Amino acid sequence: MMARTRLVFSGGVIRTMDPALPRAEAVAVEGSRIVAVGASADVRSRAGRAEQIDLQGRLLLPGFIDAHNHYLATGESMASVDVRYPKVASTEKLVSAIAAAAGKTPPGQWIRAWGFDHAKYGERRAPSRRDLDRATTRHPVAVSHISGHYVLVNSLALSLQGIDEFAPDPAGGTFAREPGGRLSGLCQDAAMGLVLPVAVDIGSHGPNFHTKAPLEELVSAAERAGRAFLAAGLTTVCDAQVTSRELEAYREARRLGRLPVRTICMPLSHQLDSYQSTGMAGPFGDDWLSVGPMKFYADGSLIGGTAAFSAPYGEHGEFPGVLYWEPEAFRAAISRAHRSGWQIGVHAQGDRAIAMTLHALGAACAAHPRPDPRHRIEHAGFPTAEQIARIAELGIVTVSQPTYLHDSGDEFLLRLGERAGRLLPLRDELDRGVTVVLSSDSDVASFRPLDTIANAVRRTTASGRAIGANQRLSVQEALRAHTAAAAFALRRERDIGSIGAGKLADLVVLERDLAGLPPADIPGVPVWMTVADGAIVHQASG
Ligand SMILES: [Zn+2]
Repeated sequence: MMARTRLVFSGGVIRTMDPALPRAEAVAVEGSRIVAVGASADVRSRAGRAEQIDLQGRLLLPGFIDAHNHYLATGESMASVDVRYPKVASTEKLVSAIAAAAGKTPPGQWIRAWGFDHAKYGERRAPSRRDLDRATTRHPVAVSHISGHYVLVNSLALSLQGIDEFAPDPAGGTFAREPGGRLSGLCQDAAMGLVLPVAVDIGSHGPNFHTKAPLEELVSAAERAGRAFLAAGLTTVCDAQVTSRELEAYREARRLGRLPVRTICMPLSHQLDSYQSTGMAGPFGDDWLSVGPMKFYADGSLIGGTAAFSAPYGEHGEFPGVLYWEPEAFRAAISRAHRSGWQIGVHAQGDRAIAMTLHALGAACAAHPRPDPRHRIEHAGFPTAEQIARIAELGIVTVSQPTYLHDSGDEFLLRLGERAGRLLPLRDELDRGVTVVLSSDSDVASFRPLDTIANAVRRTTASGRAIGANQRLSVQEALRAHTAAAAFALRRERDIGSIGAGKLADLVVLERDLAGLPPADIPGVPVWMTVADGAIVHQASG
């Protein structure tokens, strides 16, 4: 029989995220499980012969959990043209980045770029397909906005997909137009699925970024992003928008031993019927790859200007927002998913979308009570005080991304005015007893947990302005929200998210304790070691 790995960690600061024993001197791991936690002498005597790891004052935590990211898309974006700000800070820079890629790409092949953010350009206009046409007319081009909620395409891409100059808007989406009604090439939310060569038809259930790609390419993307996650201290991630394309890629990656992190899938709501016909609902799977909550979209994107607020936002009130559903149809679909046994996660940013969401979830729970459904609101950008009370009452978990406040906070201050300070009211939510979860929404924002934690603690914009300073979290609250609370949101708290005997041995060691550190220094703290399933899977060099 193969000897099971035995490790004992001691000599540092150990924060367990278990309220029954918040601090410990030592932790022992055997095989894939934690077998002892407590005083050094006790743990050593229980562990027997084991490899001793001296933390030398470093911080040991449970492995970080990203309860809402776009795992596969993150891996794919790592291989596409990077046009994120500040690397690309103007339309001209965008054109030259695409032209440079065109020079290296055979004519006819798609050019994909990721992450443009024109709200940050010093120009008073959005780039259009005319700009991309200047870069190439021989390649179809698709440039994704940093929000993931829209895409800018060139004229060739439109004509290849059979979209003519005056195509009508689809339900749940819009084609931006120039004066005179011609398409500008910006395709928002559900319109994305019409202009991209997509692998799956998701109707108007969400933004369609599920583009066609060979399975081998997707497996490589999963492996690439998974390794980067481990290096950042993440041991579990939840893909917040999974179709047959992603599920197949994760299954194949796992079969080949190329899925480096625990992966939980949130099937998108267009699959409700097909799952129902098989009798299946999440949670389903094993502790490495599983199906979790079902994902619904209530509205569009905060950064992209399509979130649904009760009063329009924008400098001139130009963003009325987009609801993905007619409220009655939404209520019926949520009710059906709830009755089938699904835990439900609803993307809802503006207060108008959150109202529709609470109404639907509240009605479903009242009509068909079941213990601890633990439904979630993804993002929960702008809940009112009354809505926070209702969220608490329904036992709903909020899964929020404070890095938005940094990356796009200056635009929020401009577009939302005094409302901006009430974005992500995490302090109010905690005070009300809501389980607050921090996550990244990668690749919309950095997947690094220490960036996310720092942004929940400091709440300052990229230019250094405060945004809702009274809603700041403490470091300890933020750590909990990215570990134990995240495990709770995924219904996995029995196995992951804290350090305790019997739990899976997913651990991260940071170079130093975060307590007392100025928030600005948190993102720079190196990850020294990551342990997943009892194995050392990442170790800093030197
Ligand atoms: Zn997302």
